Amino acid sequence: MQNLTGKVAFVTGGSRGIGAAIVRRLAADGADVAFTYVSESSAAGAQALAQELSAGGRRARAIQADSMDAAAVRRAVEHAVAELGPVDVLVNNAGVFIAGPIGGASLDDYERTMDINVRAPFVAIQAAQASMPDGGRIINIGSCLAARAGRPGVALYAASKAALVGLTQGLARDLGERGITANVVHPGPIDTDMNPADGERAGDMVAVLSLPHYGEPRDIAGMVAFLAGPEGRYITGASLAVDGGFAA
Ligand code: NDP
Repeated sequence: MQNLTGKVAFVTGGSRGIGAAIVRRLAADGADVAFTYVSESSAAGAQALAQELSAGGRRARAIQADSMDAAAVRRAVEHAVAELGPVDVLVNNAGVFIAGPIGGASLDDYERTMDINVRAPFVAIQAAQASMPDGGRIINIGSCLAARAGRPGVALYAASKAALVGLTQGLARDLGERGITANVVHPGPIDTDMNPADGERAGDMVAVLSLPHYGEPRDIAGMVAFLAGPEGRYITGASLAVDGGFAA
């Protein structure tokens, strides 16, 4: 456990999967948490998660904001700051995985991938850093495919996650004077709706891991909590793999 008592966290895409595990973990460690979601089908679940955190003594807000819409992302951060206070811990987690041969990828696919996976983190960072206290944390969720595609069909997604590495390193330099750290966590295959452990391609993915099984959302949440906590204070500009040894 980390001591995040009194901290405010903002997590994009916190309704399901890795994001929901991060929301739960940061709240369990003491943080008040605002998180976004986009789908109407996730609205009830997102509000239930916020109520669960409130029942546990945290202040929590579930905010509908499409990461495709830069103004909505900015408003969501401003909403969280107005209700909970300046963001100490920003986690850019919402992402999409549009896969397929490069010849079949459309400009819409490119724009959707880049807008959600790269532009939205940039917008959230700009909005949050303005009032982020000294010693704040920015944690971007990348992918093990950022450094090594490993198979065909992932060029757009890998490009978007590799862009997060450059963004993060630049931020570490921009914000280091304020003691604010910026890091990327690169998950390997994690059992979620995006990448179910019983999916069609799961066997191929497990075959290239050092640890021959999928990870769980809590494995990523643990690394995020560590970076967010006091022990993470001297780690910045780093890419941290939680990938079952995909890169080994
Ligand atoms: P899921 O598809 O299971 O969940 C995605 C989450 O992001 C949901 O909360 C969803 O909200 C939200 N989201 C998606 N699109 C938008 C949008 N346009 N605006 C706002 N929120 C949005 O994904 P995972 O939990 O698996 O992935 C989380 C992150 O981890 C992503 O960045 C992904 O690229 C990365 N990752 C995942 C891996 C894996 O194996 N699972 C491996 C490597 C990286 P809603 O519920 O409303 O749809």
